[in-house]
Amino acid sequence: MTAHLFDAPALPTIEIKGEDAKYPLRRIFCVGRNYVAHAKEMGGEVDREAPWYFTKSAFHAIPTGSSRPYPPGTANYHHEMELAFAMGAPAFRATADEAASAIYAYGSALDMTRRDRQQDGKDNRRPWSLGKDVEGAAVLSPMTKASEFGAVANQRIHLSVNGEIRQNATLAEMVWSCTEVIVHLSQYYHLAPGDIILTGTPAGVGPVVAGDVLEGGIDGLDPISLTLTDAE
Ligand code: MN
Repeated sequence: MTAHLFDAPALPTIEIKGEDAKYPLRRIFCVGRNYVAHAKEMGGEVDREAPWYFTKSAFHAIPTGSSRPYPPGTANYHHEMELAFAMGAPAFRATADEAASAIYAYGSALDMTRRDRQQDGKDNRRPWSLGKDVEGAAVLSPMTKASEFGAVANQRIHLSVNGEIRQNATLAEMVWSCTEVIVHLSQYYHLAPGDIILTGTPAGVGPVVAGDVLEGGIDGLDPISLTLTDAE
C-alpha cells in the first residue's frame, strides 16, 4: 500500500436506498441552464446546441439534514434545487441506449451558489469556481435506484425556505434529459461509477441567510434539507 504523507480523507459517499454499502463519490458535474424559466431569470437563454457544465469537488458534498455555517466570501448565497443522478456503469462516447442503462440511481440535490461570485465571473469572463465550488455546497439525499424510480417524466420538483415555497416545477421542464447529458458529457470524459450529475435548477432561485431552513423534494425520491447557521 502506498504510504501517504498525511492522513488521506475518506472518499465522500452517498447512501443508496436498499443497499448497506455506500456509493463512493468521485466527481460532481453540474448542468448549467437546463430549465427555460431559470435561464430567463438569470438574464440568459438555454443553449439548444449542447448542454454545458461546471464541476464541484466531491469533497464539497454533504448529506441532507446537515447544518452548515453561512459560507465566507458572499453576501448573496442562493439555493438551487436539482435532480441528481449517479452513474452505475462506464460511459465513453455513449449511445443513447448505453447512456440510459448507465444511470444507476436518482436523488434530490441542492447546488448552493455564491451568486455574487458567480456574477463576478460572468462580468470578468472568468471561471465560476468561487461561485459554485463552495465547501458544503453540494447537498445530497439518499438515492433511489433507477429501476425503482422509473422514468423521469413530470414529477414535481420543489423547494421551500422556512416553509415558504420558492421553487416549484416539474422534471418535464428539463431541456436536456439525463440520457442526453450522458451522451454529450461522455464525449469529453470517461464517465464511470462514482460520478454524479446535477441536472440544473428550475426558476425561483434566491438568497438565503443564516438561520434559514431549506426543504426540498422531488416526487418519488427522498427529500432534502439544509439548515444555515451563523457565519464562522
Ligand atoms: Mn445549478
